[in-house]
Amino acid sequence: MALFPGSVARLLCRLTLLGGASAIGASCTLVRVGGTAIVVDGGVRYAGSNPLPDLALLAETPVDAVLLTHPHTDDSGGLPVILEACLGAPVLATPPTSDLVGILLQDALRMRNGPDREAELPLYSERQVERLLLIEEAAMNQPHSEGSAGA
Ligand SMILES: [Zn+2]
Repeated sequence: MALFPGSVARLLCRLTLLGGASAIGASCTLVRVGGTAIVVDGGVRYAGSNPLPDLALLAETPVDAVLLTHPHTDDSGGLPVILEACLGAPVLATPPTSDLVGILLQDALRMRNGPDREAELPLYSERQVERLLLIEEAAMNQPHSEGSAGA
């Protein structure tokens, strides 16, 4: 007996964990289905020498979209850098998630650049955060079809 009887198409879905697989932080997953590649989340980790997910695979994979599931820093704090590796990809998120990520990233810049800095070097620049927020805003203003998630 077939697992998917009838006309339901079977597609191979490949998930590659770029970060967050063995510890909390740097959550980032590359999802490939058919000819589509989507990066889900892009966080930072708080321990270890590299705060970002492993982005090497993104250099050879054209990414169609970046999907942000929620605004926790371990899931979104690396987005300005990750987006550089996903050139041209829209960022999809709900409006509340997008709003909170914008606040958190700008606050992180203030903390990292201020006199009482908590980290040695900022992971990203103000320009990278502004670019991310512009892409999110443009994606949210796109008309979407009935039945879509409204991301
Ligand atoms: Zn989370």
